[in-house]
Amino acid sequence: MALLRVGLTGGIGSGKSTIASLFAMRGVPIIDTDEIARNLSEPGQEAFSKIVRIFGDSILDEGRRIDRDKLRERVFDNPEDRKHLEHILHPRIRTIVREKLAALEAPYVIIVVPLLIESGFTDLVDRVLVVDAFENVQIQRTAARTGLGESEIRKIMAAQASRAQRLQLANDVIENNADRKRLESEVERMHQWYQSLASTTR
Ligand code: ADP
Repeated sequence: MALLRVGLTGGIGSGKSTIASLFAMRGVPIIDTDEIARNLSEPGQEAFSKIVRIFGDSILDEGRRIDRDKLRERVFDNPEDRKHLEHILHPRIRTIVREKLAALEAPYVIIVVPLLIESGFTDLVDRVLVVDAFENVQIQRTAARTGLGESEIRKIMAAQASRAQRLQLANDVIENNADRKRLESEVERMHQWYQSLASTTR
């Protein structure tokens, strides 16, 4: 049985995590590349020592774990550093995603890839599902969730693909500007769609 691989992407605060959990509630397996990246950066992992060797102790927190906010700031301000970090993490993320895919038995899977377009991970998926929200909605939700200020959030958004770039690559779109109830019915609609696609491409 061929597994339909759906890549879920969207800008910060657009609703990826929320949508992933709504798919999970419907029994759909989720592969989260952010979680994989976090695990790879834990002390004791090969990637951890490589990251520390390149970026130095200044990116560690008091507990000598990688401070993701500091690391993010470093790579934002320095494209070379970003390349280094991607060079360490991306091949390993790919390998782990492939291993997880090989172990799955399901009609379809959601792979959450926040930077799907920026990272060139599109070859790992069969379809791209974009969650799209207005910029002011993204900012409002991210501010409420993280406490970051508007200018910081805008800086993160500026480093990500634009809404237009994402939408250009989208096979499917969930618009998330309304309330949670609306979002839930959008996810249910997509769930029906992917189940029907999976059953006809099998
Ligand atoms: P992402 O994973 O894309 O950064 P999240 O799923 O974490 O986005 O959503 C950002 C914040 O907005 C979270 O606190 C989430 O609970 C909230 N949120 C997401 N969608 C909605 C919605 N339709 N209505 C209200 N709040 C939402």
